[in-house]
Amino acid sequence: MTNPADEPRRVLVIGAHPDDNEFGCGGTIAKFTQEGWDISYIICTNGNKGSHDPEMNSYRLSELREVEQRAAAAKLGVKRVVFLRYNDGELEPTLALRAEIALYIRHFKPHAVFSHDPWKHYMLHPDHRAVGFAVIEGIVSARDHLYMPGLSQIGIGVWRPQALYLWSAEQPDHTEDISATLDLKVAALAEHHSQLDEVDGWADRVRQRAREAGQPAGYAAGEVFRRMTV
Ligand SMILES: [Zn+2]
Repeated sequence: MTNPADEPRRVLVIGAHPDDNEFGCGGTIAKFTQEGWDISYIICTNGNKGSHDPEMNSYRLSELREVEQRAAAAKLGVKRVVFLRYNDGELEPTLALRAEIALYIRHFKPHAVFSHDPWKHYMLHPDHRAVGFAVIEGIVSARDHLYMPGLSQIGIGVWRPQALYLWSAEQPDHTEDISATLDLKVAALAEHHSQLDEVDGWADRVRQRAREAGQPAGYAAGEVFRRMTV
């Protein structure tokens, strides 16, 4: 992306659960931070249902997953992580969630936003769909001044990102070269111990998918997105 204003590029990555941002665009984020970009994360749910361990409870899990998420973000050079702490599995694309996301977009003023593609068929997890729709709709509320008119009166003006990048897209039209940062993506994912320590071969599968995603564009490894102009 070009940067006409010659200011640091800002990116906002919005995921449903701790670990979604790393799976979706971890290699791209690592590349951007190495180039001096300013990256913020929003994690919408506390991930407090993501365990098969009968000894685990929801309270301990949500605390653990924030620690893991901060460690993963630090590996990628992400500046800040905002936790919205909705309960895992119960997210809906409400007007309230839309407004909340719009407020963060107006605050952080990202040039690019990354999130879930909510239109992916046969996607099981309801939170992924809910976040994707709330982000798309929230961008409109962030961009147009007649949404949330009171905010302008207290100095929180509109903000229009240049583009929205959706991961897990069925018809991606944009590939980022992550050949140099695939190792960092895997290292960041490995911080999500509660999710991946018991999963055999996950790192190999992440590497394989990155190779397949990069191949059509001629990259050793890639992440693919559907790019929407805002
Ligand atoms: Zn998820």
